Formats: sequence, structure tokens, C-alpha cells
Amino acid sequence: MARKPSQLEFAVIGLGRFGRSVALNLIERGHTVLGIDRDPNIVQQLADRMTQVVALDSTNEDALRAVDILSFDTVVVAIGSQFEANLMTTVALKQLGVKRVVCKALNERQQYILTRVGADMVVLPEHEAGARLAWQLSEPHLLEHLNLGHGFSVAEVKVPAPLVGQTLMQSGLRRRYGINVLAVKQSDNKMLVTPPPDYVFRRDDRMLIIGSDANISTFCDLSS
Ligand code: ATP
Repeated sequence: MARKPSQLEFAVIGLGRFGRSVALNLIERGHTVLGIDRDPNIVQQLADRMTQVVALDSTNEDALRAVDILSFDTVVVAIGSQFEANLMTTVALKQLGVKRVVCKALNERQQYILTRVGADMVVLPEHEAGARLAWQLSEPHLLEHLNLGHGFSVAEVKVPAPLVGQTLMQSGLRRRYGINVLAVKQSDNKMLVTPPPDYVFRRDDRMLIIGSDANISTFCDLSS
């Protein structure tokens, strides 16, 4: 029987700021995490905050085999500044047969190379943080933003004042702004998923919307 996501096991290789944050957040969500770093001082520092943490050089296939790396559902390679070590680790993990390898890259060229050698997912944390900050700065009414790629996003916004008291149907959001409302979060933390057409927007509602980036920006201007 398939295991629930709550029972997944992860290994995180490279416990710098990024790797440490991924590992500790996974632990906070109830997952089992094996932390790996070649620096014994880092391993010692994290020993009482992580499920298991070991010092080894991840470019060494035998060392990875010795910690039974194949038993982990997902292995995150969070080595940043030493790209060669990141690349060699990724190749070793795929060679050993790890099902899902997620790597951190510092730029698009590294992302391309890591994908070519078999990484299943490559994240560019600095690009992503930069893009998020740019959205927050240019759209101050946006509470949350999830970039779906290809020019589309999901966003959380406070209901713009002109819509308060109108029904979803009267607001004509799809027709006028090309925006679809996925859910409404009410101030008492009640969540209405796919609200009905006769739903009346309240002053403190937050809307979860989906649409093109351009349409979301135009819609956000309603709040200004
Ligand atoms: P940060 O996440 O802090 O921005 P960074 O991107 O600068 O880190 P590095 O400092 O290169 O990344 O690496 C992060 C961690 O990976 C370091 O703690 C380092 O000791 C560890 N590391 C580097 N190479 C290896 C390796 N071959 N095996 C295991 N750990 C490694």
C-alpha cells in the first residue's frame, strides 16, 4: 500500500543555510530526515536538532551506500558554491538508483546541467526569492503569490473595496478581469472552496485567485 506523504523519508545533503532550512522544516512537518555534510563541526552542531545526521563526502558512492541512501524517498542536494561536488553527488545518486533527486542550483546553466545528468527537480532559490520579492514590491496588496510558470499565478489578495457587498456573479471577475476565484478565506478562518455565484464578498475576506500575471496585476490595481 502507498505510504501517506506524512510518512516520507528524506535525506538532505549539504547543511548550509538552505539545506538546514529544508531539513529542519521537513522535521517540523513530521518527516524523518537524514542530514549529511562533510564537515564534522556542522554535523555536531545539528546533532540534537535533526533525526539523524552524519559526516560523509557525498561524492563518494560507497559512503552513500553505507547510509542506505536508496531507502530514502527523496534526496535533496543542497550544495551551492561547490558546483562540482553538487554535480558529482547528483550523478552518484542517480547511478545508485535514487528515485527522486532534488538539487539546488545557483544559475540557469547549472540547472540545465543538473537536469541533463538526471536531477528530477532543480530549484533556484535565489531567483525564486528575487521573483517573489519583486511581486511583493510591485503589488503591495498581494498577500501570497505562487508562480505557476508560463505567465500564470495563483495569488491571495484582500477583497478590493469596490467588490465588498457584491456577489461573485455581480463582480464579473472572469469576464472583466480574466480572474477565477478558487476560494474565499473569511476573517473567522472559514475557507469556502469554489464559492457559489451568490456569495457576497465581505470587507475582511481574502480571495485566492488564479489568472495570468497581467490580469492579476490589473485586478490588484482595484485595491489601490
Ligand atoms: P548556503 O545554503 O549556506 O547558501 P552554499 O550555497 O554556500 O550554502 P556550500 O557552502 O557550498 O553552499 O555548501 C553547503 C554545505 O554543503 C556546506 O556545509 C558544505 O560543508 C557541504 N558540502 C559541500 N560539499 C560536500 C560534499 N562533497 N559532501 C557533503 N557535504 C558537502
